[in-house]
Amino acid sequence: MSYGSDNPWPPRDLLDAHLGFGTRCIHAGQPAEPVTGAVMVPIYQTSTYVQDGVGGHRGYEYARTGNPTRTALETCLASLEGGKHGICFASGCAATTTAIHLLQPGDHVVSSDDVYGGTWRIFQTVFQPLGIEFSFVDMTDLEATRAALRPGKTKMLWVETPTNPLLKIVDIEACAALAHEVDAWCFVDNTFATPCFQNPLALGADAVLHSTTKYLGGHSDVVGGAILSNDDEIAGNLFRLQNSIGATPGPQDCFLTMRGVKTLHLRMAAHERGARAVAEFLSGHEEVDRVIYPGLSSHPQYEVARRQMSGFGGMVSFELRGDLARAERFVSSTRVMTLAESLGGVESLIELPAAMTHASVPKATREAIGIADGLIRVSVGVEEPDDLCADLKQAFERSR
Ligand SMILES: *Cc1c(COP(=O)(O)O)cnc(C)c1O
Repeated sequence: MSYGSDNPWPPRDLLDAHLGFGTRCIHAGQPAEPVTGAVMVPIYQTSTYVQDGVGGHRGYEYARTGNPTRTALETCLASLEGGKHGICFASGCAATTTAIHLLQPGDHVVSSDDVYGGTWRIFQTVFQPLGIEFSFVDMTDLEATRAALRPGKTKMLWVETPTNPLLKIVDIEACAALAHEVDAWCFVDNTFATPCFQNPLALGADAVLHSTTKYLGGHSDVVGGAILSNDDEIAGNLFRLQNSIGATPGPQDCFLTMRGVKTLHLRMAAHERGARAVAEFLSGHEEVDRVIYPGLSSHPQYEVARRQMSGFGGMVSFELRGDLARAERFVSSTRVMTLAESLGGVESLIELPAAMTHASVPKATREAIGIADGLIRVSVGVEEPDDLCADLKQAFERSR
């Protein structure tokens, strides 16, 4: 087969819908490279491409507009989410920023109230001053969500589920239906569940967003973002905005993300095994007031989680009894778990949302949505679950 401007390499068509999820993690969008037969998609470290005559190119002209390494990643992620279109960005926040540029001043967005802190900051400090309005509601309350809609003005529902750090579960199918009643789009941030455990497009969402920095990359070594969609209008506009705004990922970043994705299905199973062990260990501890894990039957939206997720993921939050100082000592006392922000890597990370990831959310707002000073969030890695539980046990003792 020859490749030219009408048929650039790698192909964007999804010929693999019949293959299982784990097989697509490894192969989707990544046929062997035709010139050398390289099995791994090469890192096309170039900013521009030769033209055989004026306008006569082979599908690529300039690397902000397109790069074959990026195309392979975009096709792969679209396949994993069951989307026709994949558009990648330099970070999750770049993906969010580009998505909100689909809107106009005067438009209104209804957002989950405990969205990722950086998302909250983009909405409140970047777009609100430009005339886009945001309402933040607890989307586990569908009546409150419906009441926040302004027909004719509301253009987007921004759903994050599970939420961060409270791991609330929002009913995607119900929210997509509410959005469509007022002709709004439903965007879902699927970073925590990943396409391995949750497929928002199949539940009616119009687009899915990822911080690929987290589970998709999976090794805490690269920052990136992506939006996947079946909607030709949304995708066409996002490709235009991706090129116009220019918050695009470099080819090395795309390569690293693609390499990480090859083991997504294996890692997610191991994250979940570890998270369940940690959640069960903490549930039995007398110094813990509350354990939040969607896979525990005590979780308030356990039934919704069971219905819309095929696994419960690797994030566990819990409230430690005592004051902020005790919580600070606790998260500084683990030896296997690393005190750090971020999540989704093979190594376990522990953090204190009130003082770290959610410090930019005002204290009154934090308290109103339930982020107590003693709330601790663990991104359970893929270490041996027994070692993780033993690590928490010694942290309880050392931090008293
Ligand atoms: C990290 C994160 C983001 C932002 O992604 P970056 O890659 O850090 O820009 C958005 N949403 C969620 C749920 C996240 O965890």
